[in-house]
Amino acid sequence: MTEPKCPECQVTGIEHIVSKDSEEATETKDPWFNVAYCDKCGYIYGVFAKVVHRATSSVW
Ligand SMILES: [Zn+2]
Repeated sequence: MTEPKCPECQVTGIEHIVSKDSEEATETKDPWFNVAYCDKCGYIYGVFAKVVHRATSSVW
């Protein structure tokens, strides 16, 4: 597996990629998305939508 590398500050290693839940949240307090970013320079690798399939009912 290749180490991810930050295009901004050239730091390598997945340990430098941190993710954070969005501040915005739904009425049920679920974050809408989370953000993966470099902990060195703050470069944002990507924003990932949170797809929460919560088991609200079990109708099997
Ligand atoms: Zn960086």
